[in-house]
Amino acid sequence: MISDIRPFRKIIRKKTKEVKVGKIKVGGDNPITVQTMTNTLTTDHKSTIEQINKVTEAGADIVRVSCPDQNSTKSLKTIIKNVDVPIVADIHFHYKRAIEAAENGADCLRINPGNIGDIKRIAEVISAAKNNNCSIRIGVNAGSLERDILEKYREPCPEALVESALRNIEILENMNFTNLKVSVKSSDVFLSIAAYRLLSEKTDYPLHLGITEAGSYLPGSIKTSIGFGSLLLGGIGDTIRVSLSDDPIEEIKVGNEILKSLNLRNRGVKIISCPSCARQAFQVIETVKKLEQKLSHIKEPITLSIIGCVVNGPGEAKQTQIGITGGGKDNHMLYLNGIDTEKVTTKDMIDKIVSLVEEKALSLQSK
Ligand code: SF4
Repeated sequence: MISDIRPFRKIIRKKTKEVKVGKIKVGGDNPITVQTMTNTLTTDHKSTIEQINKVTEAGADIVRVSCPDQNSTKSLKTIIKNVDVPIVADIHFHYKRAIEAAENGADCLRINPGNIGDIKRIAEVISAAKNNNCSIRIGVNAGSLERDILEKYREPCPEALVESALRNIEILENMNFTNLKVSVKSSDVFLSIAAYRLLSEKTDYPLHLGITEAGSYLPGSIKTSIGFGSLLLGGIGDTIRVSLSDDPIEEIKVGNEILKSLNLRNRGVKIISCPSCARQAFQVIETVKKLEQKLSHIKEPITLSIIGCVVNGPGEAKQTQIGITGGGKDNHMLYLNGIDTEKVTTKDMIDKIVSLVEEKALSLQSK
């Protein structure tokens, strides 16, 4: 008897409420979205627009921009006119920045109403958000919990993060504002997982996943993958932001790869490649690097296997739409949909694969 792994492949997502962030819908049955945040000065709208357009090209669905001062919220107007993704204005403490951001076209405010101050100010922010079709993300962070919650629990713990989130949700609900999503971030993987699981039991609002301040590219990507992986496999998470001390494009790439690896969202080329060894009939590592770069513009979901020899090549080619298996004497086998189709040389291999992937992408576009 062989094990049937198909049930494991099918992740059953918790059905959350649907929230609109500009033209993108988050939660409900909508695909999980990938976000990042700009690291340019928001007042430098030229550089910010350039960075937003680059991350959009790399696959960002939503982009967050810091608004620490009035000049930044002013700059939002120009930025929003020149980009094609919903923009989230990141606001801390100052309610006027939130109002300005909503009035200047932000699609979402990342703000915790509990931090704004008195109820009159909160009401002004909510009214600006409502009048401008702007959603709100309640962004609870273990590093900046309310003082009374911290005193009650003594340290950031799942219950403390969730209490803060529920308190902020209640403030918004009491003002009839429900166009919201929530995050409970921490730099600790275990704390983040436990907090999101607990929050998911207590609310149906969409959850924005984040392992905050995860670190540099490699450790940050691994830490985030473990955290997001545990949550996503359990059906938790409607939008994700990988938080790396690196270029925002890398955050988008890692976010999309996490979703791809769980078959939650397949965008672009999924390459299956072997680590290579003395049996390789061509330089696998170098080939994969070149292909990743040359195929980064492809948005359609296409699978590609690049395997150095016949040990695993034919088997992997059966699982992918396009496949290459290294063969002796510079004779590599090209597979299309698992069927060996023609021999190619190392010299021609990359161009051949690129043109086949582009053709496949075009045919998928026209469907
Ligand atoms: S598939 Fe072949 S070349 Fe690649 S690692 Fe395995 S044995 Fe080595």
